[in-house]
Amino acid sequence: MAAWEYAPAPESAATGRLQPSYRMFLGGEFVDGSGEPLKTLNPATEEVLAEVSTANPSDIDDAVAAARNAYEQVWGPMPGVERAKYLFRIARMMAERSRELAVLETLDNGKPIRESRDTDIPLAGAHFFYHAGWADKLGYAGYGPDPKPLGVVGSVIPWNFPLLMAAWKIAPALAAGNTIVLKPAETTPLTALVLAEICQQAGLPPGVVNVLPGAGDVGAALVGHPGLDKVAFTGSTDVGKQIQRTLAGTGRGLTLELGGKAANIVYDDAALDQAVEGVVNGIFFNQGHVCCAGSRLLVQESVAEELIELLQARISTLRIGDPLDKNTDVGAINSRAQLEKITELTAAGETEGATRWTSPCPVPQRGLFFPPTLFTGVEQSMRIAREEIFGPVLSVLTFRTPDEAVAKANDTRYGLSAGIWTEKGSRMLWTAQRLRAGVVWENTFNRFDPTAPFGGYKESGFGREGGRAGLEAYLAH
Ligand code: NAP
Ligand code: MG
Repeated sequence: MAAWEYAPAPESAATGRLQPSYRMFLGGEFVDGSGEPLKTLNPATEEVLAEVSTANPSDIDDAVAAARNAYEQVWGPMPGVERAKYLFRIARMMAERSRELAVLETLDNGKPIRESRDTDIPLAGAHFFYHAGWADKLGYAGYGPDPKPLGVVGSVIPWNFPLLMAAWKIAPALAAGNTIVLKPAETTPLTALVLAEICQQAGLPPGVVNVLPGAGDVGAALVGHPGLDKVAFTGSTDVGKQIQRTLAGTGRGLTLELGGKAANIVYDDAALDQAVEGVVNGIFFNQGHVCCAGSRLLVQESVAEELIELLQARISTLRIGDPLDKNTDVGAINSRAQLEKITELTAAGETEGATRWTSPCPVPQRGLFFPPTLFTGVEQSMRIAREEIFGPVLSVLTFRTPDEAVAKANDTRYGLSAGIWTEKGSRMLWTAQRLRAGVVWENTFNRFDPTAPFGGYKESGFGREGGRAGLEAYLAH
C-alpha cells in the first residue's frame, strides 16, 4: 500500500517583493550607506537575495544627530495621543503587508513560512498595537504621574526573529516619546528595512526611526556612541558583556536580553501527550534559534523511558525542508557559522558520552539544514547541558525529586525561561517559585504576548520587554 504523502504547498516567493538592493534609512530617507555593501543570503539555498548598503561611523553620527533633532523638535514634545496615531497606523500597515513581510522574513532567515506567517509578523504588529495604547496613558504605568522619555535610543538586534525584535525595540521606544537608531543583524536586514518603509509611508516624522544595516562593528560603534541616552541590546551574552563594559560609568541606560539554556521540567503526573507537544515546540520552533528555547528537558525518572519514546515518535514526524512550503515544520539554519556551531557542540555531546539520536526525516541536500536531534544520558557537566546550542538539539536529563529538578534547572549561568509540566497545582506553584528564570511557562511553552514582560536573570541579562514593566526602561522617572 502506498504511504500517504504531503503534496508540496509552497508560498510564492514573489509575494516577498524582494528588491535587488536595499538602502539604509536615515533621517526619513533611504540613502546609500558609506560602508561596504553586504549581501544577504537565503539560507535554504545559500543564494544571494539582495545587496544591502551598510553604515560607517559618519553615517552613525548622522543618524544619531537626526534622531536627536527629531526627539527635540517633534517627537519628544508631541502629545502621547498624537504619537499613538502613528503607532496605530504602522501596526495597521504591517497587518496589510503581513504576507509580504512573512515571505521576506522566511527568505532572509530560513524559518518556516508557517511560523513567520502565524507568529513573527502578527506578534510584531501586536507590539505596535499594544504600545500605541500606552502612548497617551504613560502617567498610569506606575512610574509617576508624568514620566518623561529618555531621548535617543540605540538598539542592536539578532537574526532569529528579525522583524519581531525590531518591533520589540521600536514600539516601546516610540510610545514613550524616544527616537531610535536600530541596527539589524547582518544576515537578516530586510524586514527591518521594509518596516522603515512602512514608517515612511505612515508619515512618521523624519529621524524618529533610523535603520542602519551592518555587521558587528557597526553595532559596536552604535552602542558606544556618546550621543545616545539609552542602549537596548538583544543578542549573545558575550557581546552583551562587551556592551556593558563600554557603557559602564557613562550614565546611559542599558537593557540586555541575552542567551538562555532553559529547563523544561516534566513531572511524572504530567499529561504526557500534551507535554510531548510542548517539549517539541519548546526546542524545534524556529530551528531552536530561540533564546528562551526549552533546550534542557528534565524528566522525572519514573516516566523518562516512556516520554523519550513518545518524543522520538513525534519528532520523527517533523518535516524538514523548504521554508516556503506551508507543510514544513523545521526550516533552514540561518548561517553557515551557526550550522558549524551546532555541529561542533553536538559532536562534543558524543565525545563527552551522551547518546545521540537523530530524526530519520529526509534532510535537503542543498542549503543549510540540521536534522532534529535528541541526546539522552546527558550529565550536568557536559557542554550540551551548559552551553547554548541555538539549534534543533534537545538534551535530556532526569531527576527523582522536585528538589533535584529545581536544583538542576537552576544550575546554569542563564535564567531566561523555564517550563513546568504537572497536573498538580501546588507542585506547579512550588516549582515556579523556586526557578530563577524571567519567564516560567506552566503546561505550555514559548507563549509570547506583548502584555507579558519578558527578560532574564543572571547572564540572560536585565530589564524587561513587553507589558507595563517593559516601559520602565524607556522612561525617566
Ligand atoms: P550576537 O552575535 O550577539 O549578535 C547580536 C547583534 O549584535 C547582531 O546585530 C550583531 O551584528 C551585533 N554585534 C556583534 N558584535 C557586536 C559588538 N561587539 N557590539 C555591538 N553589537 C554587536 O548574537 P547572535 O548570535 O546574532 O544572536 C543569538 C543570540 O541572541 C543568542 O545568544 C540568543 O539567546 C540571543 N537572543 C536573546 C533574546 C532575548 O530576548 N533574551 C532574543 C533573541 C536572541 P551581526 O549580525 O553583524 O553579527
Ligand atoms: Mg539572510
